[in-house]
Parts: sequence; C-alpha cells; structure tokens
Amino acid sequence: RYKRSSELFRQASRVLPGGVNSPVRAFKSVGGTPVFVREAAGSRFTDEDGNEYIDFIASWGPLLFGHAFPPVVEAVTRRAQKGTSFGMPTALETEVAELAVSMVPGIEKIRFVNSGTEACMSVIRLARGYTGREKIIKFAGCYHGHADAFLIEAGSGAVTFGSPNSPGVTQGTARDTLLARYNDLESVKGLFEANPGEVAAVILEPVAGNMGCIPPEPGFLEGIRQLCTDSGALLIFDEVMTGFRLAAGGAQEALGISADLVAFGKVIGGGLPVGAFGGPAEIMSHLAPEGPVYQAGTLSGNPLAMGAGLAMLRAIEADPEVFSRLESKTAYLHEGLEHVLQEAGHPYRINRFGSMISVHFSDREVRDFESAATGNNDRFRNYFHGMLNRGVYLPPSAFESYFLNDALTAEDLDLAI
Ligand code: PLP
Repeated sequence: RYKRSSELFRQASRVLPGGVNSPVRAFKSVGGTPVFVREAAGSRFTDEDGNEYIDFIASWGPLLFGHAFPPVVEAVTRRAQKGTSFGMPTALETEVAELAVSMVPGIEKIRFVNSGTEACMSVIRLARGYTGREKIIKFAGCYHGHADAFLIEAGSGAVTFGSPNSPGVTQGTARDTLLARYNDLESVKGLFEANPGEVAAVILEPVAGNMGCIPPEPGFLEGIRQLCTDSGALLIFDEVMTGFRLAAGGAQEALGISADLVAFGKVIGGGLPVGAFGGPAEIMSHLAPEGPVYQAGTLSGNPLAMGAGLAMLRAIEADPEVFSRLESKTAYLHEGLEHVLQEAGHPYRINRFGSMISVHFSDREVRDFESAATGNNDRFRNYFHGMLNRGVYLPPSAFESYFLNDALTAEDLDLAI
C-alpha cells in the first residue's frame, strides 16, 4: 500500500534530516512511513501510491476552506506573473492590512512576515523595544515557533523544541525566559513578584493547541491581563493557531479578552508562507521606519503571499458562517468519537474548544504538556494505523489539536467515526 512512499522516504532520508520535515514526528511516534502527498483538493489528498485520504489536520491549521482553495490558487497564479520587489510598497499589501485590521479587535497596524515563528519572534523584539525590559514570561507546552529569540520548552511530544539546555539556545535567551504553567495563575504571579519591573511581556496561546487542546480555565486569562496591566508588561496572544479560525477576530473575539499585541500565521496565508503581527498604533509605531525597532524582511508582504492573504480574508469576510460550520462539524466529530471510544471501553479523553479538538488515549486529565505526553501510547498507534488504512488521516494528537476544514462533508465525518 505504501510502496512508492517507502522508496521516497529512503531517498529523502539521504538528503533531508530524518527524511522529513519535523512536524512528521507523528509518524515517528507510530513507527510508520510518512505519506508522500501527490496532490490535494478540498477535504482530500492522494499519496504517491494513489491512496486517497480524508484530511483532518488541514496542514495543521492553515487550510480553513480545504486544500487547493480556488480563490487562493487563482490569486497566487495571477500574482506570480506580476513580479515582486522588496522595499517598494504595493497597494495589495495595504488592502490585506485594512481587511485584517477591520476584523481583529484592538489592531490598528499590522506588519507581514513569512511565518508564525517570525511573527512571534518579531513581536517579542517589539515588546522588548517598547518596554525597555528584557524578560519574557512564557508557558511550558506553548509553542511559539522555532526561533530562539525567547522561547523554549514547547510541546510536540518527545521532541522538545529548544529547551533552555539544548545546544543552540543562547544563555541570554534562557536567562530572560521565565517559565510559567498553563492555567496556573499563581505561577505567573510568582514570576512577576520575583522580577519586579523587569517583565517585558507575557506570551501565550490563548487556547493552547500544541499540547493537545487545552482551553484556558475561567479567570486565567483575565488574571494575566490584570497582572500585565498592573506591571506595565504587554500581553501577547500567539494566535497563530487560533487567529481567523476560532472567529474572524480570533481568540480575542471568541473569549472577549484583549491582548496588547497579537501574532498570526497559518490561516492568514491559506497554505502559503504568511505571518503577521499587529497591535495599537502607539506600540506598532516603535517599528522601523517610524521607530527604533528594526524589523523587515526581503520576502515580507510579497505579492504572492498578499494575494493568498487577501483571498483568505475576503473569503472569511464574505462567509462569516464558516466558523460556526467548522464548530458544528468538530462537535459532530467529538460526539461520534465519544460514542465509539466509550463502546470500545478504553480510557480516553477528548478536549475541545470550538473548532479545536484533541483526542488523548488516556483517562488522565490533560492539563499541560507533561500530562499530554502520557496520552500517546500503543493503543493510539493501532487506532492511527487502522484509520490510515481506511483512508482517514487523523494522526496521533497527544501533542496537537486537529483542525477540520470547511470542505469536509457529513459523509467524510461519518467515515472517520
Ligand atoms: N505559534 C503557534 C501557536 C503555532 O502553533 C506555531 C506552529 O505550529 C507557530 C507559532 C510557528 O508557526 P510557523 O510554523 O508558521 O513558523
């Protein structure tokens, strides 16, 4: 069934570390061959062996409307023919910015970059430049990309991204990163108290999605908002997963809590490399060329990326019901899986917040990265292989949330269940 994929994996392993880009840890954990994708459209993709799969991860977030979404394909094709040049503005970039600013609460200015990582890294630099402070509070298990400007100890399983002790993470980075526990307001309070007047920002995933799906407990985000306001630190929402997915205004809209700065990736590019970050003009004006914090990139805001961004945001603007449809589909999957897993009699736990969902094969309460790590086991491996062989692509999610796309039909959902 996976003959050509196996050959391709061997070939790839000679030139690519591990034979795969790192998110394919899912396959490492199940000891299988990665699926090499030949083509994709809507809710489905086909591998190099001709097997067809229903996709339940949407490229781990970006594909809100499904694969090869025609407005994005059309925009990118058209823009590619028109050339690109760094340093010369385009009206197109302004159009995307205007639309984003109109959709996301609290954002007056936005800057485009090439990935979620870059957005998070940039927003940290901006927070440091704006406050004149160095220290950043982040949460164990929250992932903010692969740059080492601040982060550390993120989720995603046996692989711990950039722990403070891993080679390549600078001592300064580790020293200035203060680690708190998700849904544990006291741990945040303690760090503020131990570092008075030194914390530049708190960064977090407003709904954690990189250690399975862990919604914020009541009062947690409100408490952090207050601590930041009281101490002059900025609250940063990393909305790379939640932005333009939970609602047009992301988690800020879905949860009714305002951040000072917000980082975006994934959906805003519809599968192309687009990241962005935004906030009030007063803070964003600290960016060059208006202010002292230099941040600019050769490919940022290029017409291909902006074409994709405009197509995605326009599609969302024209169809605001997409979020409730996604939530209903996810709730349907949730209910169906509950039923099946209950009947099977194995321990399991399903976490869901709106259209983010994770399935854990353990009855332990999943509160954080450590307990999420216990949720991945042999039973999940067997389920995963069973689903894969039936053409359902639902890889182990102990460390990730699943993301449904709007192209999934009722029939697709029933097949998965
Ligand atoms: N922040 C969050 C919450 C993410 O989930 C991710 C990626 O999964 C990132 C940042 C990094 O984004 P990218 O992979 O586009 O660099």
